[in-house]
Amino acid sequence: MVNTPMNKVPLNKNAYSQQSKRSVGHEFLAAYYEDIKYVCIKCNSEAVFLAQDQKQAYEVRKEYMWAERKLCNSCWKQMRAIKAKLVSVELEYCANKAERLLNEAFLTQWLDLLVLYPQFGKKANPARVEFVKKHLMSQAR
Ligand SMILES: [Zn+2]
Repeated sequence: MVNTPMNKVPLNKNAYSQQSKRSVGHEFLAAYYEDIKYVCIKCNSEAVFLAQDQKQAYEVRKEYMWAERKLCNSCWKQMRAIKAKLVSVELEYCANKAERLLNEAFLTQWLDLLVLYPQFGKKANPARVEFVKKHLMSQAR
């Protein structure tokens, strides 16, 4: 009986996304995943990208194989929640622009989310920040 260490999970590179398959390095993938240690860019805690989670990410969710893991699990969940809220706020705004731009609570929440999101290593949206700030300022007077 072969005793495989817990942190080794067989890798099936045929299950990777098309984008990954076309990328440099795909053909050199090892036969196993191994745990990868890294430091979370948001909270600086040590995190582990577990071998079995890597398999899920690349072979089931078809994530791009070079997408870097920068956040620990809890920060990643927070980032996803913020991203989802930003999408819903944007939809709310588009559905009723004139009214939303006069709603201070709505604008404040939107600005908070826009400021928070880049703290998780995600792309900032300075044009949106300025836009929301401008409308918040005109509320104040
Ligand atoms: Zn973290």
